[in-house]
Amino acid sequence: MIYRANIGRFEIASLQVWPLQQMPASEVLLDVDASSLEECHRRLPQFFGDDLSLIELTQNICVIRSPDQIVLVDTGEALHRAGAILAWGLAAVGIQPHEVDLVFLTHRDSDHVGGAVGAHGEALYPRAKYLISRLEYEAFKSEAKRADQFCSSIKPLEDRGLLEFLEDGAEIAAGLTAVATPGHRSGATSLRIEDGGQAALLLADTLHLPVQITHPEFSSVWDGDAELAARTRRQIVDQAESDGLLLAVPHTPFGGLGYVQLEAGKRVWSPLEWDSDA
Ligand SMILES: [Zn+2]
Repeated sequence: MIYRANIGRFEIASLQVWPLQQMPASEVLLDVDASSLEECHRRLPQFFGDDLSLIELTQNICVIRSPDQIVLVDTGEALHRAGAILAWGLAAVGIQPHEVDLVFLTHRDSDHVGGAVGAHGEALYPRAKYLISRLEYEAFKSEAKRADQFCSSIKPLEDRGLLEFLEDGAEIAAGLTAVATPGHRSGATSLRIEDGGQAALLLADTLHLPVQITHPEFSSVWDGDAELAARTRRQIVDQAESDGLLLAVPHTPFGGLGYVQLEAGKRVWSPLEWDSDA
């Protein structure tokens, strides 16, 4: 599935690279309670399974086309897993791997960096510069349990001189800015797109589910630092609502694109009206 949105001159395509999968909410979110789920289910039943204690997850990878550049945000799993689906999605929106100019890596998890290089260490986006926050790179490199993953995904890029490091607030291209969103991973970095009076924030697993918009205090079981993740999530939700930001949430169904709206004094997820073409 492909979902699309525009921010000024930027075209965003959100490519769904995983099938929808259902998981018990209690296995995804720490401390979630039944009444919060019921409240969310009343507004957004399409994000739940048949039983409201089951939530739906997927993975979306965004690709951004500006008048002069193509930017891929994360690379999905390694090719032998779901990478082939990303390649299909890119082809469906008319993009070949060699046409990608920048690959923005939000954080170190294998579903985000696993598809950066092929089985022989070759860059799968051969003309691209690959960008990752310096903090996330350092943390990835020093994490013993991810040593194999670092060697198979990031080191080949570094060895070939294709990797560049980002600081918080770095402008990677006109209208595209790196925004530190720590918590899920220490150096997790989201990408802000701004043009023509509109703005979007493509998130680095800062949140996973619509219920976390209303309840940013519910961290996920995958958040490395649950307290920091909750603080970051609250800031992002505040900012998204006050600034009218379009959010792109990597693991939320229907492209993960939507807004934060205030409804009866509560912040809620308002999915973008989408027009799917594949
Ligand atoms: Zn993820």
